[in-house]
Amino acid sequence: MTSLDALPPLREALAAHGLMAKKAFGQHFLLDLNITRKIARLAEVGEGDVVIEVGPGPGGLTRALMETGARVTAVEKDERFRPLLEDLAAAGELTLVLGDALAVDEAALAGGAAAHIVSNLPYNVGTPLLIKWLTEPWTPASLTLMFQKEVADRIVAPPGAGAYGRLGVIAQAICEAKLVMDVPARAFTPPPKVDSAIVRLVPRPDRPEPRRLDALQKLTAAAFGQRRKMLRASLKALGGEDLILAAGLDPQARAETVPVAGFLDLADAWLERRG
Ligand code: SAM
Repeated sequence: MTSLDALPPLREALAAHGLMAKKAFGQHFLLDLNITRKIARLAEVGEGDVVIEVGPGPGGLTRALMETGARVTAVEKDERFRPLLEDLAAAGELTLVLGDALAVDEAALAGGAAAHIVSNLPYNVGTPLLIKWLTEPWTPASLTLMFQKEVADRIVAPPGAGAYGRLGVIAQAICEAKLVMDVPARAFTPPPKVDSAIVRLVPRPDRPEPRRLDALQKLTAAAFGQRRKMLRASLKALGGEDLILAAGLDPQARAETVPVAGFLDLADAWLERRG
């Protein structure tokens, strides 16, 4: 078996297979192993951990994850990377799945183990994938994900910040969410138009169960759909002032100032009124 150390540098491997980044697949590669190793450290994975990586592409992050001793399953949509990733699979613990990450069954991939998701996400499917991982019955042990900076800021924003909105409330109700690394556009090949950042999310033991989460989704959609309005106006159709007072909130508050716990209280009050 070839060892990981014996593999050619990523640029050489790409050139040897005649591969160029494709815009349609959101391909911006991390070819510097110092950066991918740092991401693997931030993911806090190690020997024997099960990791699902989405979008390995040429495999820079995959190599770094494999070096930790983790057992990696990588899901890649672009068939062109098969030979390059098969070289990597021959050098360590890697299972390759060629397909669309939006359609895979993570529970089956994890095979009953607690699995960590790590990904330099394709920008065009980053948010739908995050929502899938946060809201489906299968729950990852942790998620370490690259987003464009503006999306990362929205995920971790505190109440009152300009970036605070529905995505942050839902992500933070389910997980502890932290921005752990800023990554400038120049770190990628080819560089994207925007800077990126890595967010690490760890699901909370007391994350809302499906019914509570549905209520939270409904209330945050209404409240942030008209974020400049007072709650008593934006939530009129869902119970208005009575509901807001039952949740212990100020009907004159605006969505952008209500903390995550306040939205959870609103969800509970809404569920209670529906019986
Ligand atoms: N992980 C590599 C790196 O860091 O260099 C590549 C990152 S690149 C931003 C995103 C990768 O996701 C590409 O390899 C792309 O082909 C893949 N991809 C895009 N859409 C996908 C999808 N729906 N399912 C699985 N992989 C996808």
